[in-house]
Amino acid sequence: MTLTHQPTDVRGTPRRTVLISGGGIAGPALAFWLNRYGYAVTVVEKAPALRAGGYPVDVRGTAREVARRMGILPRLRDAHIDLRRLTFLDPDGSEVASLHPHAVTRGVAGRDLEVRRGDLTEALYTAVRDDVEFLFDDAIDTLDRTAHGVNVTFRGGGGRTFDMVFGADGMHSRTREMVFGPEERFHRYLGYCFAVFTLRNTFGLSHETVMWNAPGRAAALYASGDDDEVHAFLNFARPEPDWDAFRDPRAQRDLVAEVFADAGWEVPGLLAGLREAEDLFFDGAGQIRMPRWSSGRVALVGDAAYAPSFLTGQGTSLALVGAYMLAGCLADRDHVAGFAAYERETREFVAVNQGLVGQGGATLFPTTARALKQRNERLRSLSAMPSAQGNPAHSALTLPESLPPA
Ligand SMILES: Cc1cc2nc3c(=O)[nH]c(=O)nc-3n(C[C@H](O)[C@H](O)[C@H](O)COP(=O)(O)OP(=O)(O)OC[C@H]3O[C@@H](n4cnc5c(N)ncnc54)[C@H](O)[C@@H]3O)c2cc1C
Repeated sequence: MTLTHQPTDVRGTPRRTVLISGGGIAGPALAFWLNRYGYAVTVVEKAPALRAGGYPVDVRGTAREVARRMGILPRLRDAHIDLRRLTFLDPDGSEVASLHPHAVTRGVAGRDLEVRRGDLTEALYTAVRDDVEFLFDDAIDTLDRTAHGVNVTFRGGGGRTFDMVFGADGMHSRTREMVFGPEERFHRYLGYCFAVFTLRNTFGLSHETVMWNAPGRAAALYASGDDDEVHAFLNFARPEPDWDAFRDPRAQRDLVAEVFADAGWEVPGLLAGLREAEDLFFDGAGQIRMPRWSSGRVALVGDAAYAPSFLTGQGTSLALVGAYMLAGCLADRDHVAGFAAYERETREFVAVNQGLVGQGGATLFPTTARALKQRNERLRSLSAMPSAQGNPAHSALTLPESLPPA
């Protein structure tokens, strides 16, 4: 595919062209704001179409304000899952504590939102699809950076030149690998591996999570609504990441089955479901930490640049806020000044939220009997406490105003 004409605005001025790799959360959010600032935007997404459903994600604090400014807040409110109960179980399946989820996440009732990931991507896509070019079922093959632009070839064939390219292609970003080097350089492994997949809700669960814990192992069922599906989650401690298993779904299933072989509660049923699951997602819990998020005319956003891990529950919020900040910094600057401003104005918010793993995320999954006992004591005292205050990290950035439409 070769671009034969230069896009222009209503005044006939050439529009700056950008390519965004990744149509998840950061990608469409960045597309929305760059389009608003007058850029001609193309998004390339490797999946053949948007993926519906999916595990629940949180939109909190500053990110909620981004959603409001994008006009998608009413839609997200309608999609809000409204999780009402989080119950922790002992290795023998008996109840440790049952409490409101916000007591653990420090979310704020009536303000923070939790939606299925697919509902959020659908809302973002709907907000941009008429103004932005989407190339599904394709990906960047090569990137050649010059002083005047970035020459891109696509796996599906053809090539084009863009003024800037953005990697919004997630934790295992190929854009990052092409421009900055292998993931291992930036990946901070947090000591756990996990599997997520859907199961039929034969457990009678509704708007709630039940989590079984043994030292170094956790199994959870997450019912986001009254429908007949639940999300199953199996998490286990592993000192080193098992990179081989990451690449082979059969090895992933075998590894999880081995780790949970003698587990009680509903775990045998979960393992049977794991064998059949068509949507298994297996990964290591980890963060991406980079000294810089840009190089020349290429910049990264969302998980590609600063994945905080599911232990913080802040990946989606960082993706939305990062996209807003990056686009805002480019609204009236060139890429050199814009990328510098993006780093300067966003990094602290990212650091504070990535730092949440040290504050308790990982203590949800203790690896020794003693630590598990201590955690359970804390949970019992939490359940007696009144509703939690919001976590200051979630709102640690006050957004600059967005510019009026170009
Ligand atoms: C099991 C699990 C539970 C989670 N729970 C929460 C939670 O409770 N709260 C929360 O806030 N966050 C949670 N997260 C994290 C959250 O999903 C991510 O942080 C968030 O989706 C980041 O958005 P993103 O757009 O940067 O990346 P992604 O959502 O990963 O999107 C990347 C997109 O790029 C596409 N892509 C990948 N490679 C290429 C390529 N080479 N070319 C083109 N396209 C490509 C992918 O198909 C995808 O559409 C969870 C994550 C997992 C895995």
